[in-house]
Amino acid sequence: MSHTHAMALLAFIILGAVGGVFFGWYAGDTATQISWLGTLFLNALKMTIIPLIIASIISGIGSLGDIRQLGRMGGFTVIYYTITTALAVLTGLLVVNWIQPGAGIQLTQTTVPDHILAKQDTGISDIFLSLISPNLISAASETQLLPLIVFAILFAMALTTLGTKSKPVFDVFDGINEAMMRLVVWVMHLAPIGIFALIAARLGNAGGGEQFLAEIKAVGLHVVTVLTGLFIHGITLVLIMLFIARRGFDYLLGMGRALVTAFGTASSSATLPLTMECARDNQVDAKAVKFVLPLGATINMDGTALYEAAAVLFIAQAYGIDLSMTQQAIVFITATLAAIGAAGIPEAGLVTMVIVLTAVGLPLDGIALLLAVDWFLDRFRTTINVWGDSVGAVVIDRLT
Ligand code: ASP
Repeated sequence: MSHTHAMALLAFIILGAVGGVFFGWYAGDTATQISWLGTLFLNALKMTIIPLIIASIISGIGSLGDIRQLGRMGGFTVIYYTITTALAVLTGLLVVNWIQPGAGIQLTQTTVPDHILAKQDTGISDIFLSLISPNLISAASETQLLPLIVFAILFAMALTTLGTKSKPVFDVFDGINEAMMRLVVWVMHLAPIGIFALIAARLGNAGGGEQFLAEIKAVGLHVVTVLTGLFIHGITLVLIMLFIARRGFDYLLGMGRALVTAFGTASSSATLPLTMECARDNQVDAKAVKFVLPLGATINMDGTALYEAAAVLFIAQAYGIDLSMTQQAIVFITATLAAIGAAGIPEAGLVTMVIVLTAVGLPLDGIALLLAVDWFLDRFRTTINVWGDSVGAVVIDRLT
């Protein structure tokens, strides 16, 4: 998508959101009759989930080469990515527990289903059990994505050990990956209409402005929560750059062009060529540039991980559901995996959030609450995603 094209789409999304508010406000009950348009949009997004995450993971791991020969650089990269993503999720969880953006509203017109209440007392062993499914087909049909992700990771790792035999298989998944990314871009063209309908129908349903105003306020607080979390994590990464990679602020400035592009495109994949060029210009060793950055653009997404954890807890708060410590631990693990599974394209994080929501049994409809602001937060989290990769490149360069 060209830059002007992306900007035009963004303008239409905003127009859709504003139009939805007016239509829902004035048309009342009639507005609920167009809710199917919103459902159509959500279904189109959900349709892409399974092929998208599987292909994204397999082609990401495929770029590693034989994992048995990864050596020092591979080991350090994986450790760096895991630790920083975990730090990001933790920051997200802390900030959302502190600000409690969803506490002011009650989405309980739909009463909390029994299966959610039953999930309240899941134990630690359930986390491990939810990672492996005896039947991948039924896991897929029930949108239990976690076992699919674990399978995709293991399958791709095994493939990397097969030498030349693996090439055609990886080529197929690379192709699927690119086709799925394009498909999501196409689906996003429905966003203005989908968001218009979802907002109008919700407003028409809300039966009066009060509940709606409370929702707007809560969503505003959610935006503040996510931005605060992203800002704190950005600083954490600066500290890592200063003290572990021993690089000065000139590196941050040097990556500026890539960061601004990330903000403009909301896509770490589209920004990748620039991220690599900036890193090279800033004296990062070619090996680190070629290995750490492309891998990071597909699987290392600090901003997305933080966002998913914060958004899911926000939805839980809005439904008045208190998530136990164990459930927050499940959010912690699944948000990390969901970020690995997210492709580096606009609003992919919104698609993989389904993984985290289903893992703790929250209603997927909660996503509708976030749709109107997702395009905006996407830009900030993508910038942090690219910043996380950029710091990774200097850290690995320093340590190897
Ligand atoms: N847009 C993000 C990226 O490209 C992914 C996301 O939606 O969180 O990095």
